Amino acid sequence: MKDFTYVALPARVVFGRGRIAALPEEVERLGAKRALVLSTPGRSTMVRSIVGALGSRVAGLFEEVVMHTPLEAANKARALAQSLGADCCVAVGGGSTIGFGKAIALTSALPVLAVPTTYSGSEMTTIWGLSEGGAKKTGRDPRVLPKAVIYDPELTLELPAAVSAASGMNAIAHCAEALYAVDGNPIISMIAEEGIRALACALPGVLRNGKDVEARSDALYGAWLAGTTIATTSVALHHKLCHVLGGFGLPHAETHSVVLPHALRYNADAAPEAMARIARALGAADAPQAIWEMEKKLGLPLRLADLGMKESDVERAAKIASEAPYPNPRRVEYGPVLALLRNAYGGQKP
Ligand code: NAD
Repeated sequence: MKDFTYVALPARVVFGRGRIAALPEEVERLGAKRALVLSTPGRSTMVRSIVGALGSRVAGLFEEVVMHTPLEAANKARALAQSLGADCCVAVGGGSTIGFGKAIALTSALPVLAVPTTYSGSEMTTIWGLSEGGAKKTGRDPRVLPKAVIYDPELTLELPAAVSAASGMNAIAHCAEALYAVDGNPIISMIAEEGIRALACALPGVLRNGKDVEARSDALYGAWLAGTTIATTSVALHHKLCHVLGGFGLPHAETHSVVLPHALRYNADAAPEAMARIARALGAADAPQAIWEMEKKLGLPLRLADLGMKESDVERAAKIASEAPYPNPRRVEYGPVLALLRNAYGGQKP
C-alpha cells in the first residue's frame, strides 16, 4: 500500500427510475422558492414538463445553453438569475447545461440542483469552465458543486445512440485517469474500476435499445462513479490532450473517445497497476486495445481526422500539450506525444 491523502466532497444523490418526482422536495430542502431552470433549446419541451411540478417556485427559464459555456452567454444567464431574484438553479441536461449552473454559482454562490441526462459526470465535481475567444479557462471552486443531484434513467431514454456512446467513453476516461492520478488513492481506484465495469456492461445494451431502462440505469450509475473519481483527483495526459483539441474546435465527448486508447498506450508501461485494473474491469488482457475494440463495436469514431481535425494541426497540438503538461505517470515529451496524436489522427490500433 502506497501513502495517500483521501479527500471526499459532500454529495447528495437521489438515484432511480421515476426519482425526478423528488424534484419539488429537493428544491424545498435547499430552502429555495425562486428557481432559475436551465436547459438547451433542444431539451426545452422535456425540461418544461419536468419543472411543471415546481409550480410557482419556477422564477424563470434560461433555455439558451450551448456547449463550452461561452462567457458572453454565461453572463446573460447570470444577469437573468440576478434580475429574477433567483435563489437556486435547476440544471437539467448534460455537462453543458450543468456548466451554466456552475458559471452562475461561481459569481453568485447560488445553490445548483443538477439533473444530469448524459454521462459527463460534471455534476459531481467542483470543476467549472468558461470559454472566451476560442480558449477555455477552467478552475475548481467548491461553490459550483451541486448541492443535490437527481439521476433518473427515464430522462435519458432519448439520448441518441452516438451521443450516449461518446459520453459513456468520456466517463470511462475519467475513471481510467483516476487510476493513475498523481493524487489517486485506494478508495477512488475502487470507484474507478467499478465505474468502468458498469459503463462497459451497460453501453452495448444502451446502443441495442436506447429505451432499455435497466441499461440506462447502469450507465448512469457508472457516470456518477466516474464523476466522483475526477472530483478529487488530478487529470493527466489524456485530459490535457482533449482540452487542447477542444481548443481546435473538436467535439468534447467524441474527442475523449478517440484519444483514450492512445493515451492509455502512452502510459501503459508507466502505470501497470492501473492498466491491470482497467483490463480486469473490461474482462480483457490489454487495456488500450480492449478500449479501442469496445469503441469499434460501439460504432464510435476512431480517427481524429473524422472529427474534423486538420492534419496540419497535429504538430501544433503536440507542441501545446507537451509544453505545459499535467502530472502524468510517464514523462510527457513532444516526440512521443506527436506519435500518439498521429496514431489517433489516423485511427491506428494502439
Ligand atoms: P452536452 O451537455 O453538450 O449535450 C450534448 C447534446 O445532447 C445537447 O444538444 C443536449 O441538449 C443533448 N442532450 C442532453 N441530454 C439529452 C437527453 N437525455 N436526450 C436527448 N438529448 C440530450 O454534452 P456533454 O458531453 O454532457 O457535456 C459536454 C460539456 O461538459 C463540455 O463543455 C465539457 O467540458 C463539460 N464537462 C465538464 C465536466 C466538469 O467536471 N466540469 C466534466 C465533463 C464534461
